[in-house]
Amino acid sequence: MKTIVIVGGGAGGLELATSLGEKLGRRKKARVILIDRNSTHLWKPLLHEVATGSLDDDIDAVSYRAHAKNHHFEFQQGTLNGLNRERKTVTLAPIYNADNELLVDERHIAYDTLVLAIGSKSNDFGTPGVAQHCIFLDSAEQAKIFHQRMMELFLKFANNNEKEVHIAIVGGGATGIELSAELYNTAKHLHHYGFGKLNNTSLKVTLLEAGERLLPALSERISAAAQKELQALGVEVRTGTPVTEAVENGLITKDGDTLYADLMVWAAGVKAADIIKTFGLTTNRLNQIEVRETLQSKDDDDIFVIGDCAALMQADGKLVPPRAQAAHQMATACKKNILAQLADKPLKPFVFHDYGSLVSFSKFGTVGNLMGNLTKGSMFVEGKIARIVYLSLYRMHQAALHGCFKTGLILLVGSINRLLRPSMKLH
Ligand SMILES: Cc1cc2nc3c(=O)[nH]c(=O)nc-3n(C[C@H](O)[C@H](O)[C@H](O)COP(=O)(O)OP(=O)(O)OC[C@H]3O[C@@H](n4cnc5c(N)ncnc54)[C@H](O)[C@@H]3O)c2cc1C
Repeated sequence: MKTIVIVGGGAGGLELATSLGEKLGRRKKARVILIDRNSTHLWKPLLHEVATGSLDDDIDAVSYRAHAKNHHFEFQQGTLNGLNRERKTVTLAPIYNADNELLVDERHIAYDTLVLAIGSKSNDFGTPGVAQHCIFLDSAEQAKIFHQRMMELFLKFANNNEKEVHIAIVGGGATGIELSAELYNTAKHLHHYGFGKLNNTSLKVTLLEAGERLLPALSERISAAAQKELQALGVEVRTGTPVTEAVENGLITKDGDTLYADLMVWAAGVKAADIIKTFGLTTNRLNQIEVRETLQSKDDDDIFVIGDCAALMQADGKLVPPRAQAAHQMATACKKNILAQLADKPLKPFVFHDYGSLVSFSKFGTVGNLMGNLTKGSMFVEGKIARIVYLSLYRMHQAALHGCFKTGLILLVGSINRLLRPSMKLH
């Protein structure tokens, strides 16, 4: 029996493991193994909501072990730290507990087909001080650290004579914008939970972007709408302001100004993990693995790469963007190609269909563009329709993991929880 190993149970990898488990694992036609460094999965675009407490990841996270049991694949927790293409094995780092006690030794797992889906992480472009002083929103752990520090700041503010809480966010892409808006939503709620002094004027959020406008990858109309919306909330938007250094409690800009901040987040660009460079596969300057249109690595037919860590050049000369919608589409195409490869049939080229990009300002609004046959190109959207489409991306991910019936039940439980629980995570 062939073994398919998928490393990375994120937006792309978990969907792929689920569908291959159902298709092959259920009837024991192949062994499907998913590896992830964490024990639970949380859809990455929700991290800014975990950071601000709008979402409780204890409720929304999916246990890999439980999901594997329900969908006929195996789960191994571990961090990929090596690949031996001759022996066709991946190496997982040893696991230690908080007291440095060895729990699991280094392991080698054999594969016939390997799928790399380990995503990406923030790119600080080597800017001094950023790794020490800024928080990245790359994982649920980091989002929870942000949440804890934010709550400590608000507690200090509510009980002392602090005048303002300063939060600086570097990066005017979707993550920075959505986090800025979500913070004002948080302030609104905390006002009702004993943090009475806290309101939109006491929260000072500064969003710094090196480029001349927010959301440089989207149209000028969308970026202007985003800037207007943020400024209406109270966010200070500073475009054309590259950050050259982060220090304790501050960011230094190219002009030499120091911006004071109690909490700093770096959300300016992504790159794939450095470990990828040791695999002997062709990579680009962002450490992404170069793939052919079948999603196989350029160097190895038995290695597929999907999601943010894949570099796939499109017909227009641009790379497929590192987005959840691309990871979702790649997971579907990769499944078909793995099945074709097992059946000795020809593999099909993957073509990315961009259905548009939407940016959410928490409960305050959503803007973006929709693309497709119906819209005859790109159509600017905002308001309720935009909000519904934005939310549907996560619902599609949930449906790919749990099926439509269970996703419906999850929605119902979510509505009940909204009645029973506080509107944000307070601890
Ligand atoms: C705050 C935020 C908001 C975003 N909003 C949007 C949005 O609105 N729309 C959109 O399209 N995209 C959005 N994105 C981008 C989107 O989240 C990613 O493009 C998408 O998650 C990529 O999917 P992936 O499967 O490649 O990787 P991921 O979803 O990141 O999954 C990677 C998985 O690999 C695991 N892993 C990593 N390294 C290792 C290792 N060495 N060993 C074992 N396991 C490992 C990780 O634990 C993780 O489970 C957002 C991202 C962030 C951070």
